[in-house]
Amino acid sequence: MKRAVIVVCDGLRADLLTPALTPNLARLAGGGRVFAAHTGVFPSTTRVTSASIATGCLPGRHGLEGNAVALDEGNGLFPISAGRPDFRNRMLKARGATLLVPTLAERLAGHGGSVVFSNVSAGAAHFQDPDGHGFVYHRQGSYGPGRIAVADGDRLDVTHDGDGDAAMTERFCDGVLGRRRPALAVLWLCEPDHTQHGHPLGSTEHRLAVAGADACAARVARTVTALERDGDDIITVYCSDHGHETVDAVIPLDDLLIEAGLKEGAGSSDVVVASNGLSAGIYVSDAARGRVPAIVAFLRAQDWAGEVFSGPGLAAAGLRADTALAVSVTTAKSAAANAHGIPGLSPAIADSLPGESRVGCGQHGGLGPFEQSPFLFVVGGGFAAGTRSAVPTAPMDIAPTILRHFGLPADGMDGRPLPRHPEQERGAP
Ligand SMILES: [Zn+2]
Repeated sequence: MKRAVIVVCDGLRADLLTPALTPNLARLAGGGRVFAAHTGVFPSTTRVTSASIATGCLPGRHGLEGNAVALDEGNGLFPISAGRPDFRNRMLKARGATLLVPTLAERLAGHGGSVVFSNVSAGAAHFQDPDGHGFVYHRQGSYGPGRIAVADGDRLDVTHDGDGDAAMTERFCDGVLGRRRPALAVLWLCEPDHTQHGHPLGSTEHRLAVAGADACAARVARTVTALERDGDDIITVYCSDHGHETVDAVIPLDDLLIEAGLKEGAGSSDVVVASNGLSAGIYVSDAARGRVPAIVAFLRAQDWAGEVFSGPGLAAAGLRADTALAVSVTTAKSAAANAHGIPGLSPAIADSLPGESRVGCGQHGGLGPFEQSPFLFVVGGGFAAGTRSAVPTAPMDIAPTILRHFGLPADGMDGRPLPRHPEQERGAP
């Protein structure tokens, strides 16, 4: 039986996947095909990437453009976290749709189905399958087809930490991989991202969280090996969604825009900042659209700012250009190391919502070299063991790769199937 497994170690930087820090992942990567030039999407956030992995599309096409977005629910634009358990329903009501393109769950619904176990935010879990074609299990709600809640005894009741990841992995291996046997099984760990947001990269706490995720990946690999001995043909994708940089300052962008006369006041809905950590989306009401050139000029003059995208630049950056999102700004990076020797420093943009930007700790969301360095390797499914590819790859390439394994079409995607052998490299003669 052909099957697919995706294991996501949230936030694990590719340069921190080493024999010393992640002995199991390093060993597993050595038995698979490593994609060494893998990058993230923009914004490099969990919820946006979850939708890109599920759909094979860039944010501009799948329709979720931020970890937080501004929605007009009838009273003007206000920022809202896409991680909230109620976000999916509020997005559907305000915009008339959740994701704009089909997910792997939808494409596999008649071909063996899908089960997602996720220990990150509810929103990131939902965007694997927002319209209920398969099963999504999350500590704040577990749903089956039709988005009908699963029976009480079947809910995923785990803690939002490494212990919860370990408990979830046990149940995933025995219950999902071993007994339920869906075509696609997704395991999305909250670590090391969860710890990286609260502790310095390279700290003891961080190293322990990385080791925990590494052990969970090994547990899955042992289960897959046993299933393959029993005759299953399994492709296993091991990856992260984004990396992290170390926050060296927090920029109060709302306040700066108010001081510059570009936003009416705190909480106003004319110009709304939705922080993605190391980038932000700036949403502008129809009445305030004339201020966009001044906002862009203001941002370009800030020494903390990196890239500024607006107008056609939004679509070129892979973002939606058909909503109130008018400008996207990233923060400037430094290659300097933190106190633990981990390179990559960056200012973060303050969040009017409960945020996760703490000076000295990890964050992501922008275009810095380390936040844009998730890892990716594939084991089984005909991928050449012990090989490395330097072909540029992205999270959108995972869905078409899974569909190719099942012999199903991957129409309408931005991603392309990953090359299984060195001679399959794109552009190779
Ligand atoms: Zn993440």
